[in-house]
Amino acid sequence: MKSLEQLVRPNIWSLSPYRCARNEYEGKDARAFLDANENPFNRPLNRYPDPLQRDLKEVIAQIKDVDPQNIFLGNGSDEAIDLCYRIFCIPGKDNAVSIAPSYGMYKVCADINNVEFRSVELEEDFSLNAENLLRAVSGTTKLIFLCTPNNPSGNCLADEEIEKILTNFDGIVIVDEAYNDFAFHESYRHKLDVFPNLIVLNTMSKAWGCAAIRLGMAFASKPIIDLFNKVKYPYNVNLLTQEKALDMLKRASDVERWVNMILSERETLMDAFNYLPCCEKVYPTDANFFLAKMTDATKIYDYLVNCSVITRLRSNQPLCRNCIRITIGTPEENNAILAALRKYKD
Ligand SMILES: *Cc1c(COP(=O)(O)O)cnc(C)c1O
Repeated sequence: MKSLEQLVRPNIWSLSPYRCARNEYEGKDARAFLDANENPFNRPLNRYPDPLQRDLKEVIAQIKDVDPQNIFLGNGSDEAIDLCYRIFCIPGKDNAVSIAPSYGMYKVCADINNVEFRSVELEEDFSLNAENLLRAVSGTTKLIFLCTPNNPSGNCLADEEIEKILTNFDGIVIVDEAYNDFAFHESYRHKLDVFPNLIVLNTMSKAWGCAAIRLGMAFASKPIIDLFNKVKYPYNVNLLTQEKALDMLKRASDVERWVNMILSERETLMDAFNYLPCCEKVYPTDANFFLAKMTDATKIYDYLVNCSVITRLRSNQPLCRNCIRITIGTPEENNAILAALRKYKD
């Protein structure tokens, strides 16, 4: 790995961060809080929230088995993705590399930040070939984004290939594990000590059932987390989100039950898809969705919309010709898509 100083944008490396009032005074209690120009009435909403979300990180650290100093919390993992560009990539000069097909935000954030985005197609079966990917890397490549299980293909990428990239690339590797809670696969956050160039993303939006509260996580070395904290908006995770997340984190057994129900529904739904005349292929998945190759994806997508069943049309993504992506829903929702497709005529 290059040194962090070589990888970080020079203006970010030398940045003195904004010191917000709640940063200056780190204790929790005082007789009078006269520092932040807040309204003294209307507790507790009158006070700025903890800019470093320390209580929440303590709980997440226990659940995820990582040290609090290795955690960044953001307004969804999308904030962490954007921060990677803002911290590491000089606009108009540096580039980022990722796999295709994959999650759209990697490219959108690159475009917003005027950073060149290079995507390398996976193999026909959506597996990753590290040598292939590394061939797209140049001297100005700062970031590589990997998504496992991958969206929209659903499969986990092979550890051997991921580790080749972590070992042979001298920049930052982001492993997006938004769907890891559905996969029987050890998280890369346990390998932060082995790979100092690793950033692992997680979110409360999927298995934890909290897409609405916008809470994403990044796990990385302390020096990288310090950079995230330096660049983020001071109060990027609001009080309502911090409190709701603390409530939800007490409900790990509900989450486990939901995941198990989703996995069992997934098996039923995928089996049924295999018997549909309009479905040509169901791709194996490790996530709460699967990709299906249909006879005519656009027509079937539109037909489903007319039946008031919404899926995700992925047919113009690389390697996804005639594919739709189906999220596993409640048993009622899953029955609705099946009932509709059983009535579909070409
Ligand atoms: C859904 C998803 C996310 C989650 O983003 P949030 O901003 O945390 O809601 C991240 N990465 C991938 C690949 C996803 O599919």
